[in-house]
Amino acid sequence: MKNQFSLATFLRKYKDDESCLAEIFKIKYPKGAKCQNKKCKYFEQISNFYKIKGRMVYQCSCGYQIAPLAGTIFEKTTTPLQYWFYAMFVMSNTRSGVSAKQLQRELAVSYKTAWRMFKQIRMLMAEPKDGLLDGIVEVDETFVGGKTSNRKNKYGIGSTDKEIVMGMLKRGGKVYLKHIPNTGKWTLLQQIKENVDPTARVFTDEFAGYYHLPKFGYYHESVNHRLESVRGEVHTQGIENFWSHFKRGVTGVYRVVSKKYLQAYVDEYGFRFNHRNEPMFEVLLGQINGVRVLKT
Ligand SMILES: [Zn+2]
Repeated sequence: MKNQFSLATFLRKYKDDESCLAEIFKIKYPKGAKCQNKKCKYFEQISNFYKIKGRMVYQCSCGYQIAPLAGTIFEKTTTPLQYWFYAMFVMSNTRSGVSAKQLQRELAVSYKTAWRMFKQIRMLMAEPKDGLLDGIVEVDETFVGGKTSNRKNKYGIGSTDKEIVMGMLKRGGKVYLKHIPNTGKWTLLQQIKENVDPTARVFTDEFAGYYHLPKFGYYHESVNHRLESVRGEVHTQGIENFWSHFKRGVTGVYRVVSKKYLQAYVDEYGFRFNHRNEPMFEVLLGQINGVRVLKT
């Protein structure tokens, strides 16, 4: 299913902060870094930068320096880089992620540090969309948190203590997930417009919130779960399987997810699902280039 990047391999490859920094240097400057010192003979050319001992900095023979961590989630960190890499390793190598509590124990850092590391890493997992979903797209919502898990309450009044996550899954492809404020038909339509190609065939359950989709040009079919769960191609089992995995993780590993951070947790699950057939740790690491750090 996934790459077999073992902990042993990880520890060999990233045995200390220097090897982690070298990897970041390689990601930021895949063809080598150019010197920006006008007086240098390598000005605007690729130069042979070397690491300065005891500092997270590389230097050209002319003295011009590069700090590879600048602008990344690791900027200004006092936590060893190898710990960050390890946190990213566990985030991408476990099916359901791990809790900050567990990371705290494994690395002997404070809970606050562990929590902050995961928060930053989740920023790498919030990817920009890779186009609109086409083909067969299964659409469904799930409820997170709250006091009851009774599915009969799914669309009922009295389920307001639950948060709603909408999922749109291209069969055999990617899933897009969004924390939404309600299951009103306009809310659902807006998400479909933003994420689903107009040529797609949209499959949902019997929820009436989707019945107006054809009026907006979408092909729509539904299954009524009280009568049938599958009618030929028409079913929502892909997204339902995703939900059951997602909910086991969110309630099992994280226990309580606050409303404010739900989208970040959702992004984490979406990232793992969408890169399930790729070397996930490398993909995650590669994201450091594109993600700007939060200035807090
Ligand atoms: Zn130089």
